[in-house]
Amino acid sequence: MDFSQNIISLTKRRGFIYPSSEIYGGFAAVYDYGHYGTLLKNNIRDAWWRHMVQLRDDVVGLDSAIFMHPTTWKASGHVDSFDDPQVDCRKCKSRWRADHLLEAFGINADKQPLEFINVELDKIRHEKKLKCPNCGSADLTEAKRFSLMVKSNLGSPTDVLSEDNVVYLRPETCGGIYLEYKNTIDTLRVKLPFGIAQVGKAFRNEIVARQFIFRTREFEQMEMQYFLHPSIMKEKYDEWKEARWKWYLEYGITESDIRWYKHEKLAHYASDAYDIEYNFKTLNGYKEVEGIHARGNWDLSQHGKFSGQELTYTDEKTGEKFIPHIMETSVGLNRLLFMFIDKAYNEEDVKGETRVVLKFDKRLSPVKVAVFPLLKNKPELVAKARAIYESLRPDFMCEFDDSGNIGKRYRRQDEIGTPYCVTVDFDSLEKGGVTVRDRDTMQQVRIGIDGLRSYFKDQFDRK
Ligand code: ATP
Repeated sequence: MDFSQNIISLTKRRGFIYPSSEIYGGFAAVYDYGHYGTLLKNNIRDAWWRHMVQLRDDVVGLDSAIFMHPTTWKASGHVDSFDDPQVDCRKCKSRWRADHLLEAFGINADKQPLEFINVELDKIRHEKKLKCPNCGSADLTEAKRFSLMVKSNLGSPTDVLSEDNVVYLRPETCGGIYLEYKNTIDTLRVKLPFGIAQVGKAFRNEIVARQFIFRTREFEQMEMQYFLHPSIMKEKYDEWKEARWKWYLEYGITESDIRWYKHEKLAHYASDAYDIEYNFKTLNGYKEVEGIHARGNWDLSQHGKFSGQELTYTDEKTGEKFIPHIMETSVGLNRLLFMFIDKAYNEEDVKGETRVVLKFDKRLSPVKVAVFPLLKNKPELVAKARAIYESLRPDFMCEFDDSGNIGKRYRRQDEIGTPYCVTVDFDSLEKGGVTVRDRDTMQQVRIGIDGLRSYFKDQFDRK
């Protein structure tokens, strides 16, 4: 069954994701996150941080600025070559990524030079198979380079349009990590091997951004750069690959949902690059969610060269002085959010009716517990339910709902993935127990009001 439109419409209907600037007619490839989307995104971010920083001795955190000295992006090569090959349709004026057009013919043009791409496009053109995916016209331009860098200007108002004060919105968060490598070493008593992790916004002027929040022009990345001696690269690379794979399984993704994609064409400084791909039902197939790359010492060498600063490391034991090599894990937070919604979405038949439910891992659910009075017009039930809600909310993200009937309230909570609903009824007033309904099994159990907090603590500790 094709769920994709149902999933996307649910995310708007239930306040997860809104297209940006809708009242002005929209703004392509940019999205806003509503209440539940924000809660879910924060929970995913926290789950990443927990495993990448909190539970490790060898990774520290960072929150670097979005604006950086413009030379940063010259040193890293982004100003000169962070681009994608673009093809335009002369008829309908739509714009396409040439490597994606070739992919449809089974040709892997990932990171290939423009000459290669144009030769391959020409072959397909001669076979009269090259068509605009939008209007079907064969009148497509040659591929040309399209920079993904988003420019801005800083300075006094009169300078605003000058080329001299151009700054770039970072296209990836790791740039800030390289720039703070030296301060981190100097202030935090870290020793190699160690990592620096950060979460933050990144900006790319993507040519094509049509796959909902999969590829957007503003997004959040969660990146970790691990600094090490090259002799242990292989060992640490394998360890991190395993750690990242396990993270997905920990949060409800199964072995059959994900796979490794090995990059055949590597950047000249890299020794290995794998992606984790998730099989999106919304996008009809496997797509990259995370990259794990062995990057050599290119980044620190370049920043050392362009800044004139010493970015070497001296091994205390051997006295060896060297520029650390880096392996990185890099994942899009919004892409993970899409993945978790895609995975959680279920349509079930319950007594002839369709139940839509988001079966998130309970720790990721935006709301953990919803509390209802059985009837809205009975003040004693409402007061009791309110009191329970107030007692639980310091520990759990809770929601109080007394609108509509119980069935409607369950349906609303199922659609945002709330694992537990508590209903206060007349028995609760007399005997002090409430009904707790489980999202996945729809089973209901009676729990004493006094024991509710520890009951939920136990459930969430056990997932
Ligand atoms: P692609 O080949 O799909 O353009 P990439 O290989 O350039 O992506 P990286 O630079 O390795 O991507 O970025 C690391 C991660 O950041 C990606 O795996 C993805 O999860 C996320 N990401 C990259 N670009 C975008 C985007 N435009 N929108 C949302 N997430 C993104």
